[in-house]
Amino acid sequence: MTAVARPRILVVGAGFAGVECVRRLERRLSPTEAEITLVTPSSFQLYLPLLPQVAAGVLTPQSIAVSLRRSRRHRTHIVPGGVVGVDTRAKVCVVRKISGELTPRAYDHLVLAPGSVTRSFDIPGLAEHARGMKTLAEAAHLRDHVIAQLDLADACEDEAERAARLCFVVVGGGYAGTETAACLQRLTHHAVRRYPRLDPRQIRWHLVDIAPTLMPELGEALGRSALEVLGRRGIEVSLGVSVAKAGPDEVTLTDGRVLRSRTLIWTAGVAASPLIATLEADTDRGRLVVAPDLTVPGLPGVLALGDAAAVPDLAAGADGAVCPPTAQHAQRQGRTAADNLIATLRHQALRPYRHKDLGLVVDLGGRDGVSRPLGIELRGLPAQAVARGYHWAALRTNVARTRVATNWLLNAVAGDDFVRTGFQAWRPPTLREFEHTDAYLTPEQVRAHTAPLRTGLT
Ligand SMILES: Cc1cc2nc3c(=O)[nH]c(=O)nc-3n(C[C@H](O)[C@H](O)[C@H](O)COP(=O)(O)OP(=O)(O)OC[C@H]3O[C@@H](n4cnc5c(N)ncnc54)[C@H](O)[C@@H]3O)c2cc1C
Repeated sequence: MTAVARPRILVVGAGFAGVECVRRLERRLSPTEAEITLVTPSSFQLYLPLLPQVAAGVLTPQSIAVSLRRSRRHRTHIVPGGVVGVDTRAKVCVVRKISGELTPRAYDHLVLAPGSVTRSFDIPGLAEHARGMKTLAEAAHLRDHVIAQLDLADACEDEAERAARLCFVVVGGGYAGTETAACLQRLTHHAVRRYPRLDPRQIRWHLVDIAPTLMPELGEALGRSALEVLGRRGIEVSLGVSVAKAGPDEVTLTDGRVLRSRTLIWTAGVAASPLIATLEADTDRGRLVVAPDLTVPGLPGVLALGDAAAVPDLAAGADGAVCPPTAQHAQRQGRTAADNLIATLRHQALRPYRHKDLGLVVDLGGRDGVSRPLGIELRGLPAQAVARGYHWAALRTNVARTRVATNWLLNAVAGDDFVRTGFQAWRPPTLREFEHTDAYLTPEQVRAHTAPLRTGLT
């Protein structure tokens, strides 16, 4: 008796979009209907919106790394690695396992959800000196780096070096950059009390953005409130300004100012995963163009979603609008992708993705926040409570919720010990190193790897 081959669904990326898709497929498809495989370099789903709190030491890294293997009910086969190229004609992905080994993986249905990387520009010195805030390793590394600057400033006799070590520059006035600056400023503000030789007034934080307002998606009034909070804490915000060049101990701004600093944190937006550019398909500002039902025109059997895809925003009511790169959309697109895959397997009609934005919540640390849930403007403690409540509820597992709640409580009661772990001290802190932006194959290299599986195709 020969076994009937099940359709192979291959999901790339275990983020908000990929994990939501996989979990829904597990729940709604019987094991006989399809084989589900997830390719992911890490064994967890990272809850990115709480990353600034990891850098600040409010949460431990483990608490926002939600395990993919928590339950025995999860029957998806996990391949530990990253997809470095796709031969869409042969329907084969090339996977680089975490061991380094390259291996082809055939699919019948491909779900592309590899997310995004930090968007960088051709600014002299940026590739060498800018630090990102997009991965767990970057957050942990950044925390160590900031504490190291306090340690080194405390131990140095040279005034100029000390000033440079105590000056921190964050670029990007979106929610990621604003939360990062706000949370890390609180870290240095509290930590400096443990360094009697350092004068707290010497610590300077700069937040820089080329846009004329902070977090424009929150609206003018809340943007102003955020500015007030940052100003009260002594964070100098420079709007309409960017970085002209960066060096090991200085950042030159486009308005001509030179900030002596050993820390340039770069959070100026995101760009679709470099995997998308290797597909030779249509893109919109780097994101893969998809139809409202998340299928990719011209690539049979491929769906794309999340930060990597330009998904039409049908609820926005404007022609050509695409969904912003947020977790809110990515997760819901995961559900639509799963439903549409199931519909495809069962020969039913696909449905378009439509979601009306629920608003944005921003935790500025301490008792500060600015939030706009369902259009209601909130500030201070109520805004922060809504932000934390929203994130807490959005974590996928009860154990993750318990870890996060316990960490918040412990931090509120006992504070931080400002320990520098040194775990990744050997690592060059570049965006390329942490976000693996150069890991991908050219189309020719992909075809060379998939050749054995392509015999028969003309
Ligand atoms: C600091 C910060 C704060 C944020 N705050 C908010 C917020 O408050 N609210 C909100 O809605 N959004 C927020 N976002 C944005 C939100 O996190 C993203 O929009 C969301 O994570 C996108 O989901 P995704 O599934 O597309 O990508 P991700 O969640 O990034 O997941 C992509 C996954 O794919 C994996 N991957 C990458 N390349 C490959 C490959 N080649 N092969 C296999 N796997 C691969 C990655 O390792 C990752 O696990 C924030 C982002 C940051 C950085």
